[in-house]
Amino acid sequence: MRAFTYERAKDAVAAARAVATNPSAKFIAGGTNLLDLMKIEVEVPTHLVDVQDLGFDKIEATPEGGLRIGALVTNTNLAADALIRRDYGVLTRAIVAGASGQLRNKASTAGNLLQRTRCPYFYDTNMVCNKRKPGSGCAAIGGYSRQWGVIGISESCIATFPGDMAVAMRVLDAVIETIDGEGQSRSIPIADFHRLWGDTPERDTVLRQGELITAVTLPKPLGGRHFYEKVRDRASYAYALVSVAAVIQSDGTGRVAFGGLAPKPWRVEEADALLPRGAAAVTERAFQGATPTKDNAFKLPLATRALAAVLAEAKA
Ligand SMILES: Cc1cc2nc3c(=O)[nH]c(=O)nc-3n(C[C@H](O)[C@H](O)[C@H](O)COP(=O)(O)OP(=O)(O)OC[C@H]3O[C@@H](n4cnc5c(N)ncnc54)[C@H](O)[C@@H]3O)c2cc1C
Ligand code: SF4
Repeated sequence: MRAFTYERAKDAVAAARAVATNPSAKFIAGGTNLLDLMKIEVEVPTHLVDVQDLGFDKIEATPEGGLRIGALVTNTNLAADALIRRDYGVLTRAIVAGASGQLRNKASTAGNLLQRTRCPYFYDTNMVCNKRKPGSGCAAIGGYSRQWGVIGISESCIATFPGDMAVAMRVLDAVIETIDGEGQSRSIPIADFHRLWGDTPERDTVLRQGELITAVTLPKPLGGRHFYEKVRDRASYAYALVSVAAVIQSDGTGRVAFGGLAPKPWRVEEADALLPRGAAAVTERAFQGATPTKDNAFKLPLATRALAAVLAEAKA
């Protein structure tokens, strides 16, 4: 690990300014992703601004009838919150399907949204990787690609966004709130938050250097039944090969987003409208134009079967 300096921020705007004015500074929250990457020198910040004392650790009702989740609320506390469990069950189910209890105790809401890909070549500094070193190439293309993306990928990078919580937030149409070093805030719908890789896969999201996430807002509850189906190689402590987050109403209408298949939680609103016609109709529309490799083509029928299982349970 490279040497770095460290400060514990007391003020959000000052924290944002400290990172905005130093291109090699980063925020740190739970540290469960960033420290791993620093130990293997994939991330090499020279300065860390710890945001854990900023007080963004509450879940509060909004005047619109939704909930505002502080950026520092841990995954454990978010999943266990009584209102989240009652009204946003898909979120609790997605969170508890991820990582382990110990990790969820440390992991923050903001850090979870910003976790980096799990592509093994990204983690191996002996291999070329456009995301780690822009312009160096992509070892996964033509290499081992069983776990990687089938849609929204590019000739520069075929990695996926690995998280679970964000897939549920996409179904719920969450909005990410930020503040910058000038004190300016902005609200980013989760649909626009994670980027498709294009030819700049080194940038995972639309956040600017020094833009601090303060909260995630959920609109008022959708009702219906909530599901999170995660298909993975091991029963626990493994990332999704495919995941399905869905809210299904009693008349068979609803919303669905997929994880493990793209650089971002994948939801196509026109595909939602096909839910009453069954899983195959939905995935045919949602994955129109998919470009899987021979190693990961299995993910497309797997997504259909995972959604079919959800719809069968919803009917039952
Ligand atoms: C072994 C293992 C298994 C895992 N399995 C899963 C899994 O199955 N599913 C899953 O979804 N996740 C999984 N995870 C990932 C885990 O959920 C993330 O590591 C965690 O959510 C990151 O949160 P953190 O607070 O620790 O972030 P950190 O590591 O502190 O930060 C992550 C990134 O977010 C930035 N950041 C943090 N807070 C802010 C903020 N407020 N504003 C702007 N930027 C910020 C940091 O600069 C950094 O770039 C796993 C992790 C491990 C180590
Ligand atoms: S898929 Fe993306 S993260 Fe993986 S090696 Fe290629 S460029 Fe790097």
